[in-house]
Amino acid sequence: MGAGLAGLTCAISMAQAGWSVQVFEQHSVAGGLMQGFHREGHYFDSGFHFITGSQPNGIMRSLFTRLGIQGELSFLEPSAIPFVIHQADGSQYDIPAGTTAFRQWCVQQWPETEPALIHFFAAMDACLNTDPWRQWLTGFSESEGHLPALALSQSAQDFMEEAGLPTHVQSIIGSLCIILGMRIESCPFDLFCAVTASSIAGAYRVEGGGTALTDALVRQAQALGVQIHLRNGMQSLCYEERVATGIIDERGVQHSADMMIMSCHPSEFVRCAGTEAVRPSFAQRIDTLPDSCGAFFIHALLDEPVSNQASHHILQLSNGWDGYLFFPHTFVDGKPSLEIVCWLPTERTADWSDSQLGKRPETYQQWKENTAAKILESLEPSFPGLHASLSRMWTGSSLTIQSYTRSRNGAAMGLSHDVGAERIVFRSRLRNCYFTGHNISHPGIMGSMVGALELCERVKTV
Ligand SMILES: Cc1cc2nc3c(=O)[nH]c(=O)nc-3n(C[C@H](O)[C@H](O)[C@H](O)COP(=O)(O)OP(=O)(O)OC[C@H]3O[C@@H](n4cnc5c(N)ncnc54)[C@H](O)[C@@H]3O)c2cc1C
Repeated sequence: MGAGLAGLTCAISMAQAGWSVQVFEQHSVAGGLMQGFHREGHYFDSGFHFITGSQPNGIMRSLFTRLGIQGELSFLEPSAIPFVIHQADGSQYDIPAGTTAFRQWCVQQWPETEPALIHFFAAMDACLNTDPWRQWLTGFSESEGHLPALALSQSAQDFMEEAGLPTHVQSIIGSLCIILGMRIESCPFDLFCAVTASSIAGAYRVEGGGTALTDALVRQAQALGVQIHLRNGMQSLCYEERVATGIIDERGVQHSADMMIMSCHPSEFVRCAGTEAVRPSFAQRIDTLPDSCGAFFIHALLDEPVSNQASHHILQLSNGWDGYLFFPHTFVDGKPSLEIVCWLPTERTADWSDSQLGKRPETYQQWKENTAAKILESLEPSFPGLHASLSRMWTGSSLTIQSYTRSRNGAAMGLSHDVGAERIVFRSRLRNCYFTGHNISHPGIMGSMVGALELCERVKTV
């Protein structure tokens, strides 16, 4: 269920193993959060900016090879300075590409903290070297249970404190987890290590953005005989005893199945299966599990490029917003444009949650205009002239995400992955029905695709 990255990855993996696969997707296009859109002849991405771990020898290249789409993708290398960090006090830090260069840069910036930095990087290495799903993909070990418990139950900040890093250094290095809409005090150390290490090592893009990645997956799935049903999601799930037998789609047609994999939000599973299929305590838990943050988007065309042209800018803005700003034309020549994503507590759009896409009230439009103006104003010191150079602008929010993907509350990264947040496992009470996607595994392209492949490796033999 679901033709996002996780669903398509599962479809290919299971078809490669000889299964006959059907994918049901409620929306009219595949891709889930990877969807892009066109405005005035220009292509914009929504949930795609770069692929962590996509450097030439990176984990994602192995994954694409394994899925058979590596040759379909044209990779675009980030600039020598892949990230610029903007702090709320106006200071900026140019982060060099590559793990070694980054670590050397940290020592040059803060030589007095060298012992603490060495201590902290050693903890990161220890965590990365025992990260089970990295090991699984590279074939080192069985995937379960080797991660030090501390890395899951302590935050990145806990480890920084323990290493003795001063607060200002914590804030700068820690701002890398803004990539996932997280903060150092709540980002589990294992997730921090996986995301920061793989971003610094390789923040490549593919030409054509999220749509190109989705299209390559769809083509490969179809070549393997997978049927993808668009605009036809799961309406209800059928089961007998504790075995799922199939689904009824949105057109009322029944389809039988030997196994089902849910890549949509688990609340969709509960909605479709009914509370009898799951333990009441499970249904209640899904209801009360917190979602990750939402997002406020600004997509704009620029009259001319603005001065600071690194591709990715990580933002801690003076008005309290966190997020990132991305200049697509620094990768591929074209009309200068920008994409801004600011992370948004999903409650901020609660007043309009019952409204429909295209029919939202005027108060929502006003809120979006005011919010965009505040974000652009606080960007002006770092990007002088940015506001004046915008020729056209489009905005969106968590409600947009919710409308297109049925992500609960418009959460951008699925269920909360914060330290202490309860996780749900990949199994359901129905013996042949499994969960995957960024609600279950790590968020992001790497998390959702590696997690999906890992799940398939486990269930293929069932
Ligand atoms: C603004 C933003 C920027 C991001 N930028 C990046 C980035 O630069 N790099 C990165 O690595 N990650 C990024 N991410 C995260 C990344 O996009 C996601 O983690 C990833 O795409 C999740 O894939 P998924 O398959 O788990 O979920 P989804 O993409 O949500 O797929 C779930 C699918 O299930 C479908 N569905 C729902 N209900 C049903 C139903 N009843 N029946 C059938 N289908 C159903 C949905 O329509 C959807 O297609 C970003 C996310 C956001 C929001």
